[in-house]
Amino acid sequence: MSIQIYDLTFPELTSLLNDWDEPAYRARQLWQGLYQQFWNSPELFTNFPTSLRSQLAEKIQFKVLAPVSTLNSSDGQTVKTLFRLQDGKGIEAVLMRYEKRNTLCISTQVGCAMGCVFCATGQMGFKRHLSSGEIVAQVMYYARLLHDEAASVTNIVVMGMGEPFHNYDNLMAAIDRLNEPEGYNFGARRFTISTVGLVPAIRRFALEKRQVNLAISLHAADDNLRTSMLPVNKRYPIDELLDACREYVAMTGRRISFEWALVNGVNDTPEQARLLARKLKGLLCHVNAIPLNPTRGYSGQATTRERADKFKEILEQSGIPCTIRLRRGIDIQAGCGQLAIQF
Ligand code: SAH
Ligand code: SF4
Repeated sequence: MSIQIYDLTFPELTSLLNDWDEPAYRARQLWQGLYQQFWNSPELFTNFPTSLRSQLAEKIQFKVLAPVSTLNSSDGQTVKTLFRLQDGKGIEAVLMRYEKRNTLCISTQVGCAMGCVFCATGQMGFKRHLSSGEIVAQVMYYARLLHDEAASVTNIVVMGMGEPFHNYDNLMAAIDRLNEPEGYNFGARRFTISTVGLVPAIRRFALEKRQVNLAISLHAADDNLRTSMLPVNKRYPIDELLDACREYVAMTGRRISFEWALVNGVNDTPEQARLLARKLKGLLCHVNAIPLNPTRGYSGQATTRERADKFKEILEQSGIPCTIRLRRGIDIQAGCGQLAIQF
């Protein structure tokens, strides 16, 4: 397989064009074409001589993702696109429009190795990691689409298919590339990474002191329940995970979000809420609860409005801020954890 364009860093692109005996300014022009004009094919670089355009077309793969199908939610606010990768495997990414925000939800792996029982991606197992360029390409796809409407991406949540911290290096390389001031210039603070709770990666992330926001998929406040829902809890139990979270907050001063998919009668009980409030005491955090999106491989059902409100009330009485998020995009299976397409 040839080199894929979005896999290259600016220095790599510069040295490649240098090897082709191109003048130094070409690399910058190429970079700006890619990340500021969102050109996705060599023919669009009309500022380049034809010979260079043909060489690019011959040596470098520009079509990293092929959109295969697109689903729009009934309110038109959410768009989910299924992409085919070069090896034929499939991933999905979602655009959610809400007031002035255009939030992307992107994938980091084909499938996922973590096996959370309620998650559609987990139910398909792990296929492979995405390269940094395959992660970047999802953003460029929507950036181009929004650019055509005179709009732009405002936030990126790494909550699509896969466990981001299992593909740590490629994800950080993608974030760095999207962050390049001469290129897309997308601020680190506008990213949120959601992890199932891989403790060594959380510690590493804390040390790197990035401005990126961190969300932790907690979903249960005692180890028995959490292990039954998220098998990774066997390896990194709750107290160890929360210790790492405390260290993260101490080192970065940043607030952590805890995610909680409310499953009726399972983790939406007053006992779980009370236990959670005790565990999170004194931690700079926020709980994002969302009613479960039921999936084929899991018998759990979504919580009810009343139970969700009660859960929130108990947390807030203990001083833990909690938001119950709406299930957006549910009619197109674009809710969190609903992304699971296989070819
Ligand atoms: N692997 C990462 C990020 C992808 S999943 C993680 O687990 O955090 C993004 C979020 O969707 C996670 O909080 C995950 O627990 C949640 N999720 C997965 N399946 C879900 C479902 N069926 N209903 C509601 N939330 C779900
Ligand atoms: Fe993987 Fe996250 Fe799904 Fe768990 S919830 S299986 S970590 S994608």
